[in-house]
Amino acid sequence: MFDNLSDKLEATFKKLAGQATINEVNIGIAMRDIKRALLGADVNYKVTKKFVEDVREKALGEQVVKSVSPAQMIVKIVSDELTELMGGENKPLNLATNKLPAVIMVAGLQGSGKTTFCAKLAKRLKKNGKHPLLVAADVYRPAAIAQLKTMGDQVDVPVFSIDAQDALKAALDGVDEARKIGCDVVIVDTAGRLQVDEGMMAEAESLKKQLSPDEILFVVDAMIGQEAVNTAKVFNERLDFDGVVLTKLDGDARGGAALSIKHVVDKPIKFMSVGEKVDDLDLFYPDRMAQRILG
Ligand code: GDP
Repeated sequence: MFDNLSDKLEATFKKLAGQATINEVNIGIAMRDIKRALLGADVNYKVTKKFVEDVREKALGEQVVKSVSPAQMIVKIVSDELTELMGGENKPLNLATNKLPAVIMVAGLQGSGKTTFCAKLAKRLKKNGKHPLLVAADVYRPAAIAQLKTMGDQVDVPVFSIDAQDALKAALDGVDEARKIGCDVVIVDTAGRLQVDEGMMAEAESLKKQLSPDEILFVVDAMIGQEAVNTAKVFNERLDFDGVVLTKLDGDARGGAALSIKHVVDKPIKFMSVGEKVDDLDLFYPDRMAQRILG
């Protein structure tokens, strides 16, 4: 991921490397190149425009220190702005609740990597000393329940499910079950559809209302480009979620989702999923991602 963007940015900085000073002309050229590079990486148009304006303003406003070349200065400004764009710092999960168990609700489209993420998160929490329970609230697809059970086994975390097609009941009974068996955090895997639809949204809203989750995470496949941002917008309008999980960052996604989502929905990216295996989950660090983009 980001290979193309990294290459293009590197070429832009190279062009600046021979310049003795920063001026309207060379900054203008650099900004045009950066804009093209970002749009080429599928970054949202408005986000790109604002990004380039901010970098230009900072670059022209800054005195070039003697020890730092104009190119180095621009790299630093771009790096800082990329970090800021992706949220500044990692925002942790909010599990500091008075009530037990803490409830994490996980929402997103079918195929986004939701179920896989639930299992990965359970594994991670367990490693951190928690006692998670996975709850299958995707009650319409037997395959989804079976998948959660298989993955629960893999990470050695119990999975709760019911036979009835009642997501609310599954979730509420799951919370009761957690209390009964001494689990301190419940991860609710909700139903997703292939596309945003009213039924899915209404059900997720009602789950939110009844469950009062401590944390709602929205899972989105980074490979779907601009669509990731559009989907995030719709889910955020309905659920006002707390954080984003970007998945499939191991693929050849162009990176636009990672760079646009925080700005568009103003919610932090908390995790990134980088593969199908249960250990392929990392906290999302904007500064490290910016470093990765800049190579
Ligand atoms: P759900 O329908 O949203 O619950 O999605 P799943 O968890 O079933 O994932 C859909 C497919 O994407 C599965 O084949 C997963 O193995 C795969 N998957 C999930 N996360 C990742 C990831 O980070 N990288 C890759 N390459 N595949 C992933």
